[in-house]
Formats: sequence, structure tokens, C-alpha cells
Amino acid sequence: NTTAPRLPSYLKTTIPKGASFSKIKKDIRGLGLHTVCEEARCPNIGDCWGGKEGATEAEGKKGATATIMLMGDTCTRGCRFCSVKTNRKPPPLDVHEPENTAEAISRWGLGYIVLTSVDRDDLADGGCHHFAETIMKIKQKAPQILVEALTGDFWGNLDHVSVVAKSGLDVYAHNIETVEALTPFVRDRRATFRQSLAVLAHAKKEGVRVTKTSMMLGVGENEDQIMHALRELRNIDVDVVTFGQYMRPTKRHMKVDRYVEPAEFDRWKQVAEDMGFLYVASGPLVRSSYKAGEFYIENVLK
Ligand code: SF4
Ligand code: SF4
Repeated sequence: NTTAPRLPSYLKTTIPKGASFSKIKKDIRGLGLHTVCEEARCPNIGDCWGGKEGATEAEGKKGATATIMLMGDTCTRGCRFCSVKTNRKPPPLDVHEPENTAEAISRWGLGYIVLTSVDRDDLADGGCHHFAETIMKIKQKAPQILVEALTGDFWGNLDHVSVVAKSGLDVYAHNIETVEALTPFVRDRRATFRQSLAVLAHAKKEGVRVTKTSMMLGVGENEDQIMHALRELRNIDVDVVTFGQYMRPTKRHMKVDRYVEPAEFDRWKQVAEDMGFLYVASGPLVRSSYKAGEFYIENVLK
């Protein structure tokens, strides 16, 4: 079958709502931050930035989540599902980025920040010190802000994982993206399923309280393969898993194999929760950082 499946109506995006959404949008002007939420036009921005429905502005901000991209906009890898641009030699790091980002985030006052980055295989340390420095500076300036680091695999270098894991973060996230069998066709050839498991296992070993990963559905995986991935993740004590629909960024990226029905996403949530994951977010539009702040407050801090 060479024809692509049609986009179902539940994947059409909605207009942002929520008490603190417009305030946050206004705040971000002038802070010089680049959020993935805005730049990738993430459809969840209303949910993530708005906080809980019916909350006051202050409560809303406390539960709100935003994702910040560090280390530039050019990745040394080229995964087949990803729209970030690729170059073997991206520009050097901005040495002021950790300080400036931490300063802006502390003034912004959101409850939960996800820091992520492109993969920088060109750097001797993979950028781990840059990552860790940003986290330490945020925690110095605003210890109440919860910080999740969503890192690459540091090409399997576990010492680099340790540097980030010991920086004072609250959640260590690394995405397996897909099942083991499809990994070579979906992710850059330098990424492997086993290497990703090793990253997550190592972060836990370093004392991180919550580890987290994310999978796209609809790239060609079957049920047994999903079950296999979940069992492997549970074996290494991963706490949080999220499932979302793969969406093809452009015609040059891999095709969508199928659109997974919302009911199937609900079923995977149930299956994973029954296996003992602390929290599972699962839905067509769910992304790894989806409402991460609200989840942390409700499931970890309670
Ligand atoms: Fe931002 Fe992630 Fe939420 Fe999208 S899912 S709005 S990128 S925090
Ligand atoms: Fe995109 Fe991450 Fe792959 Fe780079 S490593 S191409 S940013 S998914």
C-alpha cells in the first residue's frame, strides 16, 4: 500500500486556552528564550502553558510546563522522523547560554522546565557540561523550579550521562522513540535501542528519582514489539512512559504507517500502568513533555 493514510479529525489542532496561557506568551517576549513549544508550533501549548483548567494565574504558572532547546538549532544526527536541521559541524556553543537561560527561566517563574537539545556528537563531551551547568544555575537562582533534562544518548558514553544526572535535576528523560526492531529504520544509525536503555538505567543508578522515556506509535510497530519495549523499560525501573502519534514533518521524512485510534492509546496507558509505571501519558497529540509539570506535582510530590 503506497498511499498515506488520511489525517483523522482528532489530530487537527485546537486553539490554546487556559488561564495563564496569554500571560506566559507575553512574558516570554523580551526574555530571549526559545521554546520548542512555540517554535515547533506544538499543538499542546494551551494545555501545557495553561496549567489546570479553572486554576488561578499563579496556580496555573506553577503547574505549567515549557520546553527549552539548548545548544543551537542544528543536530549532528539525522533521524528519519525529525525536522531539526542536520550538519556534521554545527556552530560552536554559546558559552553564555547556561547563565542567560537560567536567568530568563528564573524570572519567568514557570513551575516546570524541560531542557532538551540537539545531539552534539561533534563535541568531546557531547555537551553534557553545558547541560549540567544550565541546570545548576537554574537551581541556584530558583530552587523551586522543577527541571527535567531530555538528553540524547551521548553516543553511549555513560560518564557524560552521569554529569547531567548529578546536576541536581528532578527528572532524567531520554527517548527510545520506537520499538527495538524498528530502531535502525527510524533513528540515526548511531542510536541503538540497547544504548538508550543503558542511558536510562545509568541515570537511575546515579540516584535520579524519576526516569522517563517516550515512544511514537504509527511508524510500523506491532503489539508484541510494544510489549517487549515496555518490559525492557520496566526491567530497568523507568518510571514514566509516554505514547504519541508519529506525524510526518515533511514529504522527505518517513511515512506514517497508520493513525492509531484514541481508544488504542487509552489501552496502552492501561497496559503500562498495570505493569507498574508510575505515570503514563498516552494520546494522539501527546509529546514527551506533555503536561509534565502537572504530572510531577500530582504523582511524585503528593
Ligand atoms: Fe511544549 Fe512539550 Fe507541552 Fe508541546 S508538549 S507545549 S513542546 S512542553
Ligand atoms: Fe532530531 Fe534528536 Fe534525532 Fe537530532 S538526535 S535528528 S534532534 S531526534
